[in-house]
Amino acid sequence: MWKEIEAAPADAILGLTEAFKKDKNPGKVNLGVGVFKDDAGTTPILNCIKTAEKKLVETETTKGYLPIPGNPAYGAGVQKLLFGADSEVIRSNRAATLHTPGGTGALRTGADLLKKFKPAAKVWVSTPTWANHKGIFTAAGYEIADYPYYNAETKGVKYDELIETLEGVPAGDVVLMHVCCHNPTGVDLVGEQWDKVVEIAKAKGWTPFLDFAYQGFGDSIEEDRAAVEKFAAAGIDFVVASSFSKNFGLYNERTGAFTIVTPSAEETAVALSHAKLTVRVNYSNPPAHGGLAALTVLADDALYEQWIDEVAGMRDRIKAMRAKLVDGLVARGVEQDFSYIKEQRGMFSFSGLSDDIVEWLKVNKSIYIVKGGRINVAGLTSKNIDYVCDAIAEALKA
Ligand code: PMP
Repeated sequence: MWKEIEAAPADAILGLTEAFKKDKNPGKVNLGVGVFKDDAGTTPILNCIKTAEKKLVETETTKGYLPIPGNPAYGAGVQKLLFGADSEVIRSNRAATLHTPGGTGALRTGADLLKKFKPAAKVWVSTPTWANHKGIFTAAGYEIADYPYYNAETKGVKYDELIETLEGVPAGDVVLMHVCCHNPTGVDLVGEQWDKVVEIAKAKGWTPFLDFAYQGFGDSIEEDRAAVEKFAAAGIDFVVASSFSKNFGLYNERTGAFTIVTPSAEETAVALSHAKLTVRVNYSNPPAHGGLAALTVLADDALYEQWIDEVAGMRDRIKAMRAKLVDGLVARGVEQDFSYIKEQRGMFSFSGLSDDIVEWLKVNKSIYIVKGGRINVAGLTSKNIDYVCDAIAEALKA
Protein backbone atom coordinates (compact mmCIF):
# COMPACT_ATOMS: atom_id res chain seq x y z
CA MET A 1 0.00 0.00 0.00
CA TRP A 2 2.93 2.42 0.44
CA LYS A 3 4.05 2.44 -3.20
CA GLU A 4 1.91 5.43 -4.17
CA ILE A 5 2.54 7.34 -0.95
CA GLU A 6 5.08 10.11 -0.63
CA ALA A 7 7.43 9.98 2.36
CA ALA A 8 6.66 12.42 5.17
CA PRO A 9 9.15 15.22 5.83
CA ALA A 10 11.57 14.73 8.73
CA ASP A 11 10.65 16.43 12.02
CA ALA A 12 12.12 19.94 11.85
CA ILE A 13 14.09 19.59 15.07
CA LEU A 14 14.88 15.87 15.15
CA GLY A 15 15.69 16.04 11.41
CA LEU A 16 18.39 18.59 12.19
CA THR A 17 20.01 16.06 14.55
CA GLU A 18 20.04 13.52 11.70
CA ALA A 19 21.90 16.02 9.51
CA PHE A 20 24.26 16.78 12.42
CA LYS A 21 25.08 13.09 12.88
CA LYS A 22 25.98 12.76 9.20
CA ASP A 23 28.27 15.82 9.27
CA LYS A 24 31.94 14.71 9.20
CA ASN A 25 33.37 18.01 10.52
CA PRO A 26 35.03 17.15 13.87
CA GLY A 27 34.32 20.68 15.12
CA LYS A 28 30.55 20.44 14.50
CA VAL A 29 28.20 21.86 17.15
CA ASN A 30 24.57 20.88 17.71
CA LEU A 31 22.53 23.75 19.14
CA GLY A 32 19.29 22.25 17.86
CA VAL A 33 17.52 19.56 19.85
CA GLY A 34 16.34 20.54 23.33
CA VAL A 35 18.24 18.31 25.71
CA PHE A 36 20.47 19.54 28.51
CA LYS A 37 24.17 18.96 28.04
CA ASP A 38 26.92 19.33 30.60
CA ASP A 39 30.21 21.06 29.87
CA ALA A 40 31.57 17.84 28.38
CA GLY A 41 28.72 17.92 25.86
CA THR A 42 26.93 14.88 27.23
CA THR A 43 23.42 14.49 28.62
CA PRO A 44 24.18 12.97 32.01
CA ILE A 45 22.07 10.75 34.25
CA LEU A 46 21.59 12.78 37.44
CA ASN A 47 23.43 11.36 40.46
CA CYS A 48 20.22 11.33 42.49
CA ILE A 49 18.59 9.21 39.77
CA LYS A 50 21.56 6.81 39.65
CA THR A 51 21.23 6.26 43.41
CA ALA A 52 17.46 5.86 43.13
CA GLU A 53 17.88 3.33 40.32
CA LYS A 54 20.30 1.27 42.42
CA LYS A 55 17.73 1.20 45.20
CA LEU A 56 15.06 0.14 42.75
CA VAL A 57 17.12 -2.74 41.39
CA GLU A 58 17.48 -4.05 44.94
CA THR A 59 13.89 -3.56 46.05
CA GLU A 60 11.66 -3.90 42.98
CA THR A 61 9.73 -7.14 42.99
CA THR A 62 7.51 -6.94 39.92
CA LYS A 63 7.10 -5.50 36.47
CA GLY A 64 3.34 -5.93 36.69
CA TYR A 65 1.12 -3.26 35.12
CA LEU A 66 0.59 0.04 36.86
CA PRO A 67 -2.97 1.32 37.33
CA ILE A 68 -4.26 3.45 34.41
CA PRO A 69 -3.33 6.76 36.16
CA GLY A 70 -0.05 5.29 37.42
CA ASN A 71 1.15 4.91 40.98
CA PRO A 72 -0.90 7.18 43.31
CA ALA A 73 2.28 8.10 45.22
CA TYR A 74 3.77 9.42 41.97
CA GLY A 75 0.69 11.58 41.42
CA ALA A 76 0.98 12.92 44.95
CA GLY A 77 4.69 13.69 44.42
CA VAL A 78 3.94 15.54 41.19
CA GLN A 79 1.22 17.60 42.87
CA LYS A 80 3.56 18.71 45.66
CA LEU A 81 5.96 20.05 43.04
CA LEU A 82 3.21 21.71 41.00
CA PHE A 83 1.28 23.38 43.81
CA GLY A 84 3.52 23.27 46.91
CA ALA A 85 3.15 20.67 49.67
CA ASP A 86 0.64 22.65 51.75
CA SER A 87 -1.55 23.76 48.85
CA GLU A 88 -5.29 24.06 49.36
CA VAL A 89 -5.78 22.30 46.01
CA ILE A 90 -4.13 19.18 47.43
CA ARG A 91 -5.89 19.35 50.81
CA SER A 92 -9.31 19.66 49.21
CA ASN A 93 -8.69 16.94 46.59
CA ARG A 94 -9.37 19.36 43.76
CA ALA A 95 -6.53 17.91 41.67
CA ALA A 96 -6.12 14.52 40.02
CA THR A 97 -2.85 13.47 38.41
CA LEU A 98 -2.14 10.77 35.86
CA HIS A 99 1.37 9.56 35.16
CA THR A 100 1.83 9.91 31.39
CA PRO A 101 4.55 8.96 28.89
CA GLY A 102 6.39 12.29 29.03
CA GLY A 103 4.99 15.77 28.74
CA THR A 104 3.99 14.93 25.19
CA GLY A 105 1.79 12.09 26.47
CA ALA A 106 0.25 14.52 28.95
CA LEU A 107 -0.51 17.05 26.23
CA ARG A 108 -2.13 14.43 24.03
CA THR A 109 -4.12 12.92 26.92
CA GLY A 110 -5.41 16.39 27.81
CA ALA A 111 -6.15 17.25 24.20
CA ASP A 112 -8.19 14.05 23.72
CA LEU A 113 -9.99 14.44 27.04
CA LEU A 114 -11.08 18.03 26.48
CA LYS A 115 -12.05 17.30 22.86
CA LYS A 116 -14.53 14.70 24.06
CA PHE A 117 -16.54 17.27 25.99
CA LYS A 118 -15.82 20.40 23.96
CA PRO A 119 -15.82 19.05 20.40
CA ALA A 120 -16.08 22.51 18.81
CA ALA A 121 -13.37 24.11 20.96
CA LYS A 122 -10.38 25.69 19.28
CA VAL A 123 -6.98 25.61 20.93
CA TRP A 124 -5.06 28.88 21.14
CA VAL A 125 -1.27 28.75 21.06
CA SER A 126 1.40 31.42 21.36
CA THR A 127 3.18 32.86 18.33
CA PRO A 128 5.61 31.19 18.22
CA THR A 129 5.33 27.97 20.19
CA TRP A 130 6.99 24.56 20.41
CA ALA A 131 6.24 23.06 16.99
CA ASN A 132 4.81 19.85 18.41
CA HIS A 133 2.01 21.74 20.18
CA LYS A 134 0.31 22.35 16.87
CA GLY A 135 0.99 18.77 15.78
CA ILE A 136 -0.48 17.24 18.93
CA PHE A 137 -3.65 19.33 18.98
CA THR A 138 -4.17 19.00 15.22
CA ALA A 139 -3.86 15.23 15.55
CA ALA A 140 -6.49 15.36 18.30
CA GLY A 141 -8.84 17.12 15.86
CA TYR A 142 -8.56 20.74 16.98
CA GLU A 143 -8.56 23.84 14.91
CA ILE A 144 -5.55 25.93 15.97
CA ALA A 145 -5.74 29.66 16.66
CA ASP A 146 -2.77 31.86 17.49
CA TYR A 147 -2.34 34.50 20.16
CA PRO A 148 0.36 37.16 19.90
CA TYR A 149 3.29 36.48 22.18
CA TYR A 150 6.87 37.27 21.15
CA ASN A 151 7.85 40.75 20.11
CA ALA A 152 10.92 40.44 17.88
CA GLU A 153 11.64 44.16 18.18
CA THR A 154 11.60 44.54 21.96
CA LYS A 155 12.64 40.90 22.56
CA GLY A 156 9.84 40.77 25.13
CA VAL A 157 6.19 39.71 25.26
CA LYS A 158 3.57 41.52 23.18
CA TYR A 159 1.67 41.93 26.41
CA ASP A 160 -1.07 44.35 25.35
CA GLU A 161 -1.91 42.39 22.21
CA LEU A 162 -1.83 39.15 24.18
CA ILE A 163 -4.29 40.50 26.74
CA GLU A 164 -6.57 41.90 24.06
CA THR A 165 -6.65 38.53 22.29
CA LEU A 166 -7.27 36.56 25.49
CA GLU A 167 -10.17 38.91 26.30
CA GLY A 168 -11.76 37.80 23.04
CA VAL A 169 -11.26 34.03 23.38
CA PRO A 170 -14.71 32.40 23.51
CA ALA A 171 -15.83 30.49 26.61
CA GLY A 172 -15.04 26.81 26.24
CA ASP A 173 -11.99 27.28 23.99
CA VAL A 174 -8.64 26.00 25.23
CA VAL A 175 -5.65 28.32 25.73
CA LEU A 176 -2.27 26.62 25.86
CA MET A 177 0.32 28.54 27.90
CA HIS A 178 3.93 27.83 28.86
CA VAL A 179 4.32 28.18 32.63
CA CYS A 180 8.01 29.10 32.48
CA CYS A 181 11.03 29.00 30.18
CA HIS A 182 8.91 29.52 27.08
CA ASN A 183 10.01 27.31 24.21
CA PRO A 184 11.33 28.61 21.81
CA THR A 185 11.67 32.24 22.94
CA GLY A 186 12.94 32.02 26.54
CA VAL A 187 10.63 34.95 27.35
CA ASP A 188 8.03 34.54 30.10
CA LEU A 189 5.12 36.45 31.60
CA VAL A 190 5.85 37.71 35.09
CA GLY A 191 3.99 38.36 38.37
CA GLU A 192 1.04 40.67 37.78
CA GLN A 193 0.87 39.79 34.11
CA TRP A 194 -0.11 36.28 35.16
CA ASP A 195 -2.68 37.72 37.60
CA LYS A 196 -4.30 39.47 34.67
CA VAL A 197 -4.34 36.31 32.55
CA VAL A 198 -5.91 34.34 35.41
CA GLU A 199 -8.51 37.07 35.90
CA ILE A 200 -9.43 36.93 32.19
CA ALA A 201 -9.60 33.12 32.18
CA LYS A 202 -11.97 33.26 35.12
CA ALA A 203 -14.12 36.02 33.66
CA LYS A 204 -14.31 34.62 30.12
CA GLY A 205 -14.57 30.93 30.92
CA TRP A 206 -11.95 29.54 28.55
CA THR A 207 -9.88 26.59 29.74
CA PRO A 208 -6.21 27.20 30.58
CA PHE A 209 -3.98 24.32 29.48
CA LEU A 210 -0.62 24.84 31.18
CA ASP A 211 2.49 23.27 29.72
CA PHE A 212 5.12 22.95 32.45
CA ALA A 213 8.12 21.21 30.92
CA TYR A 214 10.95 23.17 32.57
CA GLN A 215 10.19 23.52 36.29
CA GLY A 216 13.46 24.49 37.98
CA PHE A 217 15.20 25.75 34.83
CA GLY A 218 14.04 29.36 35.34
CA ASP A 219 14.74 30.43 38.92
CA SER A 220 13.87 27.51 41.23
CA ILE A 221 11.31 24.74 41.65
CA GLU A 222 9.20 27.07 43.86
CA GLU A 223 9.51 30.31 41.91
CA ASP A 224 8.88 28.66 38.55
CA ARG A 225 5.46 27.37 39.67
CA ALA A 226 4.12 30.83 40.57
CA ALA A 227 1.67 30.89 37.64
CA VAL A 228 0.31 27.43 38.51
CA GLU A 229 -0.34 28.60 42.07
CA LYS A 230 -2.22 31.63 40.76
CA PHE A 231 -4.50 29.49 38.57
CA ALA A 232 -5.02 27.11 41.50
CA ALA A 233 -6.01 29.95 43.82
CA ALA A 234 -8.63 31.17 41.30
CA GLY A 235 -10.79 28.08 41.89
CA ILE A 236 -11.37 27.49 38.16
CA ASP A 237 -11.02 24.53 35.83
CA PHE A 238 -7.59 24.11 34.30
CA VAL A 239 -5.16 21.36 33.38
CA VAL A 240 -1.39 20.97 33.53
CA ALA A 241 0.94 18.89 31.35
CA SER A 242 4.21 18.52 33.23
CA SER A 243 7.39 16.64 32.45
CA PHE A 244 10.38 15.23 34.30
CA SER A 245 12.33 14.88 31.05
CA LYS A 246 14.39 18.01 31.68
CA ASN A 247 14.52 18.57 35.42
CA PHE A 248 15.17 14.90 36.24
CA GLY A 249 17.03 14.22 32.98
CA LEU A 250 14.62 11.33 32.38
CA TYR A 251 14.16 12.03 28.67
CA ASN A 252 13.99 8.47 27.42
CA GLU A 253 12.06 7.10 30.39
CA ARG A 254 9.01 9.09 29.22
CA THR A 255 8.10 10.45 32.63
CA GLY A 256 5.42 13.10 32.67
CA ALA A 257 2.07 13.88 34.25
CA PHE A 258 -1.34 15.19 33.33
CA THR A 259 -3.07 17.02 36.17
CA ILE A 260 -6.69 18.12 36.20
CA VAL A 261 -7.84 20.86 38.59
CA THR A 262 -11.51 21.72 39.06
CA PRO A 263 -13.44 23.82 41.58
CA SER A 264 -14.45 20.75 43.66
CA ALA A 265 -13.35 17.24 44.65
CA GLU A 266 -16.55 15.85 43.11
CA GLU A 267 -15.91 17.37 39.69
CA THR A 268 -12.29 16.26 39.80
CA ALA A 269 -13.38 12.66 40.43
CA VAL A 270 -15.66 12.80 37.38
CA ALA A 271 -12.90 14.32 35.23
CA LEU A 272 -10.46 11.63 36.36
CA SER A 273 -12.88 8.85 35.47
CA HIS A 274 -13.01 10.16 31.88
CA ALA A 275 -9.27 10.75 31.71
CA LYS A 276 -8.82 7.08 32.59
CA LEU A 277 -10.97 6.08 29.62
CA THR A 278 -8.87 8.33 27.38
CA VAL A 279 -5.67 6.68 28.56
CA ARG A 280 -7.03 3.14 28.38
CA VAL A 281 -7.66 3.36 24.64
CA ASN A 282 -4.41 5.18 23.98
CA TYR A 283 -1.45 3.61 25.83
CA SER A 284 -3.44 1.72 28.52
CA ASN A 285 -1.11 2.52 31.43
CA PRO A 286 2.17 4.35 31.86
CA PRO A 287 5.73 3.03 31.81
CA ALA A 288 6.94 2.53 35.38
CA HIS A 289 10.67 2.96 35.65
CA GLY A 290 11.16 6.71 35.27
CA GLY A 291 8.28 7.48 37.59
CA LEU A 292 9.62 5.11 40.24
CA ALA A 293 13.07 6.67 39.99
CA ALA A 294 11.70 10.21 40.31
CA LEU A 295 9.42 9.19 43.16
CA THR A 296 12.32 7.55 45.00
CA VAL A 297 14.16 10.87 44.85
CA LEU A 298 11.13 12.92 45.87
CA ALA A 299 10.42 10.65 48.86
CA ASP A 300 13.94 10.75 50.34
CA ASP A 301 15.12 13.97 52.01
CA ALA A 302 18.80 13.50 51.16
CA LEU A 303 18.12 12.55 47.54
CA TYR A 304 15.67 15.44 47.24
CA GLU A 305 18.35 17.89 48.40
CA GLN A 306 20.78 16.38 45.96
CA TRP A 307 18.23 16.77 43.17
CA ILE A 308 17.63 20.44 44.02
CA ASP A 309 21.41 20.99 43.82
CA GLU A 310 21.67 19.17 40.53
CA VAL A 311 18.81 21.18 39.00
CA ALA A 312 20.52 24.37 40.21
CA GLY A 313 23.74 23.14 38.59
CA MET A 314 22.01 22.68 35.23
CA ARG A 315 20.30 26.08 35.51
CA ASP A 316 23.50 27.88 36.48
CA ARG A 317 25.47 26.28 33.68
CA ILE A 318 22.96 27.49 31.10
CA LYS A 319 23.01 30.99 32.58
CA ALA A 320 26.80 31.03 32.50
CA MET A 321 26.81 30.01 28.81
CA ARG A 322 24.32 32.78 27.99
CA ALA A 323 26.74 35.28 29.47
CA LYS A 324 29.72 33.77 27.67
CA LEU A 325 27.93 33.90 24.34
CA VAL A 326 26.84 37.53 24.71
CA ASP A 327 30.20 38.70 26.10
CA GLY A 328 32.06 36.66 23.48
CA LEU A 329 30.21 38.43 20.66
CA VAL A 330 30.89 41.84 22.20
CA ALA A 331 34.57 40.95 22.55
CA ARG A 332 34.66 40.13 18.83
CA GLY A 333 33.38 43.54 17.91
CA VAL A 334 29.86 42.47 16.97
CA GLU A 335 27.78 45.63 16.97
CA GLN A 336 24.34 44.05 17.06
CA ASP A 337 23.02 44.04 20.62
CA PHE A 338 22.57 40.47 21.87
CA SER A 339 22.36 41.35 25.57
CA TYR A 340 18.74 40.12 25.73
CA ILE A 341 20.06 36.55 25.48
CA LYS A 342 21.27 36.95 29.07
CA GLU A 343 17.75 37.79 30.24
CA GLN A 344 16.01 34.87 28.52
CA ARG A 345 15.09 31.94 30.70
CA GLY A 346 15.40 28.20 30.42
CA MET A 347 17.30 26.16 27.94
CA PHE A 348 16.42 28.11 24.81
CA SER A 349 17.29 31.39 23.33
CA PHE A 350 15.56 33.07 20.46
CA SER A 351 18.88 34.31 19.23
CA GLY A 352 17.62 36.84 16.70
CA LEU A 353 19.82 35.19 14.03
CA SER A 354 18.08 35.24 10.66
CA ASP A 355 17.37 32.08 8.69
CA ASP A 356 20.11 33.12 6.25
CA ILE A 357 22.66 33.28 9.06
CA VAL A 358 21.40 29.98 10.48
CA GLU A 359 21.88 28.36 7.07
CA TRP A 360 25.33 29.97 6.63
CA LEU A 361 26.43 28.63 10.02
CA LYS A 362 25.32 25.14 9.08
CA VAL A 363 26.89 25.08 5.62
CA ASN A 364 30.14 26.85 6.49
CA LYS A 365 30.75 26.04 10.14
CA SER A 366 28.75 22.87 10.89
CA ILE A 367 26.85 24.72 13.61
CA TYR A 368 23.28 23.45 13.73
CA ILE A 369 20.54 25.85 14.85
CA VAL A 370 16.77 25.40 14.37
CA LYS A 371 15.28 27.56 11.61
CA GLY A 372 13.87 30.66 13.24
CA GLY A 373 17.06 31.09 15.25
CA ARG A 374 16.30 29.04 18.38
CA ILE A 375 19.52 28.07 20.12
CA ASN A 376 19.75 25.36 22.75
CA VAL A 377 22.09 27.26 25.06
CA ALA A 378 22.97 23.99 26.84
CA GLY A 379 24.67 22.89 23.61
CA LEU A 380 27.39 25.49 24.26
CA THR A 381 30.43 24.27 26.21
CA SER A 382 33.73 25.80 27.30
CA LYS A 383 35.28 23.82 24.42
CA ASN A 384 33.03 25.09 21.62
CA ILE A 385 32.02 28.57 22.82
CA ASP A 386 34.95 30.38 21.16
CA TYR A 387 34.36 28.54 17.89
CA VAL A 388 30.66 29.46 17.98
CA CYS A 389 31.34 33.12 18.86
CA ASP A 390 33.95 33.36 16.09
CA ALA A 391 31.55 31.80 13.60
CA ILE A 392 28.60 34.04 14.49
CA ALA A 393 30.80 37.12 14.38
CA GLU A 394 32.10 36.08 10.95
CA ALA A 395 28.59 35.30 9.71
CA LEU A 396 27.28 38.69 10.78
CA LYS A 397 30.13 40.48 9.03
CA ALA A 398 29.94 38.29 5.90
N1 PMP B 1 6.39 21.03 26.16
C1 PMP B 1 7.45 21.75 25.79
C2 PMP B 1 7.32 23.23 25.71
C3 PMP B 1 8.65 21.12 25.50
O1 PMP B 1 9.70 21.86 25.12
C4 PMP B 1 8.74 19.73 25.58
C5 PMP B 1 10.01 18.99 25.27
N2 PMP B 1 10.77 19.46 24.23
C6 PMP B 1 7.60 19.02 25.95
C7 PMP B 1 6.45 19.70 26.24
C8 PMP B 1 7.54 17.52 26.00
O2 PMP B 1 8.42 16.92 26.80
P1 PMP B 1 8.61 15.34 26.87
O3 PMP B 1 9.93 15.07 26.27
O4 PMP B 1 8.54 15.05 28.32
O5 PMP B 1 7.51 14.69 26.11
